[in-house]
Amino acid sequence: MKFEPTMVNAFVPGNAILSAREEAIIARRAQLLGPAYRLMYARPVEVVRGEDVWLYDASGNKLLDAYNNVCSVGHSHPHVVAALTRQASILATNTRYMNEPVLDFAERLLKTFEPELAHVMFTCTGSESNDLAVRLARARTGGTGFIVTECAYHGTSHMAASMSPSLGVQNPLGEHVRTVPAPESYRAGDEDVGVAFRKSVEAAIASLQKAGIKPAALIVDTIFSSDGVLSDPPGFLSGAVSAIREAGGLFIADEVQPGFARTGKHMWGYQRHAIVPDIVTLGKPMGNGYPVAALVTRPDILAEFGRNTRYFNTFGGNTVAVAVAGAVLDVIESENLMQNANAVGAYLKCSLKELAADVPEIGDVRGAGLFIGIEIVSNRDTKEPDPRLAADLVNGLREDGVLISGCGLRANTLKIRPPLTFRKEHADLLVGALTKALQSYTNRH
Ligand code: PMP
Repeated sequence: MKFEPTMVNAFVPGNAILSAREEAIIARRAQLLGPAYRLMYARPVEVVRGEDVWLYDASGNKLLDAYNNVCSVGHSHPHVVAALTRQASILATNTRYMNEPVLDFAERLLKTFEPELAHVMFTCTGSESNDLAVRLARARTGGTGFIVTECAYHGTSHMAASMSPSLGVQNPLGEHVRTVPAPESYRAGDEDVGVAFRKSVEAAIASLQKAGIKPAALIVDTIFSSDGVLSDPPGFLSGAVSAIREAGGLFIADEVQPGFARTGKHMWGYQRHAIVPDIVTLGKPMGNGYPVAALVTRPDILAEFGRNTRYFNTFGGNTVAVAVAGAVLDVIESENLMQNANAVGAYLKCSLKELAADVPEIGDVRGAGLFIGIEIVSNRDTKEPDPRLAADLVNGLREDGVLISGCGLRANTLKIRPPLTFRKEHADLLVGALTKALQSYTNRH
């Protein structure tokens, strides 16, 4: 079977035997939801309940969730649930009414950014945030050209999907969109990753200009999650950011994946690269499962757009969303989740590197905080990607009660991204299950 980016995070091929009940649910889904949806794992999981880092399936089995950056402070966190139910029972209105809690939250959120990023706008999803970012970039620069990485994902709206090559070769990219190879240190050889990335962005700018298109922005997920979790060396983004600015464009940091303390030392992924974006988009982890998202930018970028255009988002920044998002920040602070992501992430990465020393199929272990990628190869010297083994390991772990998934242009990177409440004992469970899955592979070959 030929692996394509479209299969990443989707139904991972395997030989699972499904129960009659599982077969029936899958058939019902296909009948009701149509053919565009994908399930994860060869034997998909039917989850009925979540608590902290655990998911429970319909038979009562406990699964370790090492893949969830939606319920980022832990499934069904009691403090977040209480804030949600309390506010839902008092008032659910929108930003067309004067309401101080939304301002209190805006103030608190903006304090986590550099002072120049002084405005926040609310949306419901990461896709909406990126869509709005594109509109702002066009309005501010007068340009229409956008640069994204080769296996990027930026969302599901028409605009965001047209900048998301990871949706598959059949998904049309916008005419004004150019793709660049992601900054991969594992395959960079002697070349400096940042210099190479800057050169690629310069080439994309030249290609846009040659076609008579003015560049509007470079947009990247600052942990390059769908590109394969590309984290190092910190700082590699700065050259590319300068290049797009020199060409009159903006830099948009998509923080939907790395944001909200996941990378361990910083609240936002871009801060590892010592740059300040022009626009930052936020999403998933912001509401721990409740749909709340945002865009943060400088006042000068928003000024003209705001003068000319009215912005209203019925649910974006509604009173319940804001209560939930505030409770998520409470938990990040009160449970020291950034420090936990740093400490447990470092411990997990270290254990995985120890494992890699004895396992030739592990080509690279990388990541920051609780965002880790493991690149699976069939040959360490040639770095030949092994997407089949990667899928086999994802499915093996699932059968052993540990949930992760795969990513990357070559679909051969294991993506590990647990709730930030993950502890060392959970990391040990994960490494144990991976060791077992690798042994099972070795015994079969
Ligand atoms: N950007 C990135 C980097 C994402 O990973 C995602 C979602 N996986 C989005 C944007 C879109 O977010 P949403 O699904 O909330 O629209």
